[in-house]
Amino acid sequence: MSNVIIAETKNSQLHPSTAELVTAANSLGGGVTIVIPSTSDSASTAASSIMGVDKVIAVVADCFSSYDASSWAAAIDAVAPAGNLILTASNDSKDLGARIAARRGLSIVQNVVSIDNGELTSPVYSGKALETVSLNGNAVVTIRANTFAAAGEGGSAESSVVNQSADVGCAVREMIAKASARLDVSEANIIISGGRGMGGPENFAQLESIADVLGAAVGASRAAVDAWDGIGHGMQVGQTGKTVNPSLYIAVGISGAIQHLAGMRSSKYIVAINKDAEAPIFQHADYGIVATWEEVLPSLKAELESLLN
Ligand SMILES: Cc1cc2nc3c(=O)[nH]c(=O)nc-3n(C[C@H](O)[C@H](O)[C@H](O)COP(=O)(O)OP(=O)(O)OC[C@H]3O[C@@H](n4cnc5c(N)ncnc54)[C@H](O)[C@@H]3O)c2cc1C
Repeated sequence: MSNVIIAETKNSQLHPSTAELVTAANSLGGGVTIVIPSTSDSASTAASSIMGVDKVIAVVADCFSSYDASSWAAAIDAVAPAGNLILTASNDSKDLGARIAARRGLSIVQNVVSIDNGELTSPVYSGKALETVSLNGNAVVTIRANTFAAAGEGGSAESSVVNQSADVGCAVREMIAKASARLDVSEANIIISGGRGMGGPENFAQLESIADVLGAAVGASRAAVDAWDGIGHGMQVGQTGKTVNPSLYIAVGISGAIQHLAGMRSSKYIVAINKDAEAPIFQHADYGIVATWEEVLPSLKAELESLLN
């Protein structure tokens, strides 16, 4: 059996949780490889010196400068050897682990706090109960910090560097991310946001073209962010996203759940476009259009263009 740790770094230095992951990996048995996604290979030496590590692979690419789920998962999946994948249970690593698990068709066990004779235990129901599972083949496992003792120093694992910046997929994703970087919702005076009612991420192009006419930012509901890769978390408005306070907020295909309202209800003017006249968003809208976005957005764009140009 082989265990592959996907390490985190901070300011290009190895995160201290890596040594805890090595202890967890060793409790599963088999060899241990550490894969370090970073913009440089400067964390390799620290990783090689952890006891119980056989091999270190630094995966170097510009896309690792800030977390982006799909480009990170693609770049790491291309390099990480087969085996159990072990990550720390931080928000980013849990997200990354789930994405790599989906790419590789592996099971995932999150928030593991102990490993005993091949049985993995994690808290469930907000810690009110413990769940124990055993692995049947390779899996992705995330380990809660401070639950395993850190492995000591004194190792001398072989180390190699893979430069993923030359990887076309990674480079293209970076370029797309940069090209599509537009005004942030938290800075914008006008926001047009899409929800699950947009039907798919490709339809956000309709919102973007109206945003271009208005000089607006494009936002999204959590349902849209959770459902579609192309809709980044930075666009999410609401309780667990950004709180915004623009002059004009246009909600398209958004039902108006309390958690979404928490992030935008203080907007000066709210316009809602929704095909369901009973959608709660209409109770908070200054102007409401009961229709599908497919009907409304093309004529809204044409009207705005003739008004503003
Ligand atoms: C702890 C917690 C935190 C949360 N934090 C947030 C948060 O920060 N932000 C957030 O947004 N949500 C958050 N949520 C989720 C929230 O409860 C809702 O699930 C979410 O806001 C629903 O998103 P939605 O309105 O896009 O989707 P839905 O509720 O599915 O609504 C889709 C709407 O689109 C309409 N529609 C469908 N097709 C069309 C069409 N062709 N044209 C026009 N309209 C159409 C439908 O009538 C419907 O009203 C949170 C939930 C929890 C439990």
